[in-house]
Amino acid sequence: MQYYNQNTLIYLNGEFVKATGTRVDLFSQSLHYGYGAFEGLRAYSTHNGTRIFKAEAHFERLRKSCEAIGFSYTWNNRTLIEQCYALLSANNLRSAYIRPLVFSGSNMHLTSATEAHIMIAAWEWGPYLGQHLIRVNISDIERPSKKSFLIDAKVSGQYINAIRATTDAIRNGFDEALLVDQEGYVAQASSENIFIEKDFKIYTPPIADVFPGITRQTVIGICKELGFEIIEKRLTVQDIYTADSAFLSGTAAEIIGIKQVDHVVYKEDWEHTIGASIQRKYKNLVLEQENYEVII
Ligand code: PMP
Repeated sequence: MQYYNQNTLIYLNGEFVKATGTRVDLFSQSLHYGYGAFEGLRAYSTHNGTRIFKAEAHFERLRKSCEAIGFSYTWNNRTLIEQCYALLSANNLRSAYIRPLVFSGSNMHLTSATEAHIMIAAWEWGPYLGQHLIRVNISDIERPSKKSFLIDAKVSGQYINAIRATTDAIRNGFDEALLVDQEGYVAQASSENIFIEKDFKIYTPPIADVFPGITRQTVIGICKELGFEIIEKRLTVQDIYTADSAFLSGTAAEIIGIKQVDHVVYKEDWEHTIGASIQRKYKNLVLEQENYEVII
């Protein structure tokens, strides 16, 4: 996958520069110790023009992630969002995945960063897990413990675990991995939150145990709006196996249905599940098609 070419511009510390013209500080703590914070946003081409979905929430989470690891966050989020729109337009992108990354300068000590840099890149990217129903496995690799890791912050180093779990899943013929917490409850996928449907109700693990996905929050809002009962509750592996259907949520993957978990194949036709209704509603929401058909 090519993320940039000779003409691609990125935003770097207040300026737009050629992606090919930048250099990485090989003594950066981010490179050596995974000490960085990042975000993932999506811009959609809507009938109102290009619109970044929930940009404020994403940049607010970036600020929190930075503060959690001791980066001083000196940027103004409104300005950064404006710069994202300028970046899209500079690269002629109408819909894109947007990746802001805060990284440190050179420091080989294990002390908080004395300098923080920000870069924002954007590229065209289809749904992260594709458009078809996926197969997932329950990974042997656990989610990092809340006591030792900042599970609610989007910080670079902790994705090593996700990379290991995903690689392992793919090697075993699956598309994505589900990770359990230290107590054996299914917490989430490598980089998505999980929902299951059982007897016409939707269940998802409580916020305290998982990464606070913005799409997760959107799904909860959609359930409430559409009148589906949504229950936040810890889920066992057995709950996942005996569900009627299940799906994942994330900015990159959007809403994607699961057809199989380990050896268990869900019998329910996805198109008739609550998840499929949520998926349709989510698409309308990001494309700002709410009531659009009615208006035109
Ligand atoms: N879990 C993890 C670990 C993530 O990194 C992400 C975002 N990529 C998500 C869940 C989904 O979060 P969001 O809906 O805000 O994209």
